[in-house]
Amino acid sequence: MKIGFIGLGNMGRHMARHLILAGHDVTVHDVRPEAALDHLGLGARWVDSPATCADGVDVLITMLPTPGVVEDVLLRGGAAEALSPGALWIDMSTSTPAAAQRIAEEVLDARGVRRLDAPVSGMARGAEAGLLQIFVGGDAGDFREVLPLLEVLGDPAKILHVGAVGHGYTVKLMINLLWFGHLVAAAEVLAVGVKAGVDLGVLRSALLAGPAASHFLEHDVLSVLADGDYDDSFAMVLACKDLGLAVDLARDVGVPAELAALVERIFRRAKAAYGDRAGEMSPVRLYEKWAGQDFRLPLPTVPAV
Ligand code: NAD
Repeated sequence: MKIGFIGLGNMGRHMARHLILAGHDVTVHDVRPEAALDHLGLGARWVDSPATCADGVDVLITMLPTPGVVEDVLLRGGAAEALSPGALWIDMSTSTPAAAQRIAEEVLDARGVRRLDAPVSGMARGAEAGLLQIFVGGDAGDFREVLPLLEVLGDPAKILHVGAVGHGYTVKLMINLLWFGHLVAAAEVLAVGVKAGVDLGVLRSALLAGPAASHFLEHDVLSVLADGDYDDSFAMVLACKDLGLAVDLARDVGVPAELAALVERIFRRAKAAYGDRAGEMSPVRLYEKWAGQDFRLPLPTVPAV
């Protein structure tokens, strides 16, 4: 299959590599040409613009940081105009239904270009392993058509068709909102408990044995506890972007998502303290500061994909 791939960052570089290794004819583009060196070595073709990347392909995949960049690449970058009638655009970025809808209304629909939104979870290590979770919004026939391609990137058991166009983005934003909420809740509980004198390891074991156990506390926090690794493969600037989009979506649909707004505020405070490129678990550092100790345990790091 002829595939154009735009966005070779922490996630996209692994995804594009898997597609090349699976034997597809892949053309790549990024604003940073050096991001494509590995891909060229594996036989991909480099092009200088989004429009050239979209020209003549069966499928265009985008893996870009924000809805604004997605619109830039598709509209001002000319990728949408360059797609052939019948071609399929799959946006795997964490973006919004509204941005994709504008692109469809301005260009894609009139040209007969199809689209799916297929954002992912699973962190950079899931992308590297080809074991992402993928949440697809769009026509069921289009989904079935590209399923073999998505199975190159994701765990076949965790590639879900979640509804009409836009629903993939919505599901992804809700997953991140809940996960970031778990992160803040767990960090806060650990901070209060240890500051009150309970041993960190004892407190965590007791929480895991009780009704308030969470996947975050059991698995995802291990990188911090074992290594002080706050996962800089997902930057705070993107985490705050996702939370902002989730809060906007809640406002759009008229749900007073007060907890979401609070979680966003705590994440923004951590971004201000530790920087845009700091890892997504950086809010835990705030709570470590307030607890007066780092949260560290003698544990092996267990990657949670
Ligand atoms: P990243 O910032 O590492 O990569 C983005 C890439 O897009 C970069 O290579 C950048 O140079 C490129 N880019 C930016 N503007 C461009 C433009 N105008 N034209 C062409 N290329 C451009 O981001 P990432 O961590 O790979 O995340 C990509 C998307 O996936 C985001 O929407 C993010 O929220 C989502 N996501 C990330 C993770 C993660 O763990 N990193 C997990 C799930 C979802």
